[in-house]
Amino acid sequence: MSQNDHDARYATKIMKSTVGDFLASARQVAEDADRVARFKSRQCVACYYVRRVCAGQSFTGWICQECDVVGEHPDTAVPKLCNACSDKRKRCVRCMASIRWCPADEASR
Ligand SMILES: [Zn+2]
Ligand SMILES: [Zn+2]
Repeated sequence: MSQNDHDARYATKIMKSTVGDFLASARQVAEDADRVARFKSRQCVACYYVRRVCAGQSFTGWICQECDVVGEHPDTAVPKLCNACSDKRKRCVRCMASIRWCPADEASR
């Protein structure tokens, strides 16, 4: 087997595992598998499963877009809503989308 064939086989293996990971997270989103933990973290399906953020470690000041309360966050991925507003309106703290909605609900309707 030539070096090229060898590289191609290796690339195919990596490609399959990338696709496998992608499908696994798609399934998680579809089933909303972590619903309880997701509600606890006050995030919508997209922010919780898809938009996993890599945040810088530094305390960052922010203002709630709903009630103007000023908060401090331990990293740079600052929320848009405070916890109180998120609980009251059932909205995602990161992007303000509905927390309740998930693809499984849509399918059962
Ligand atoms: Zn607020
Ligand atoms: Zn969100």
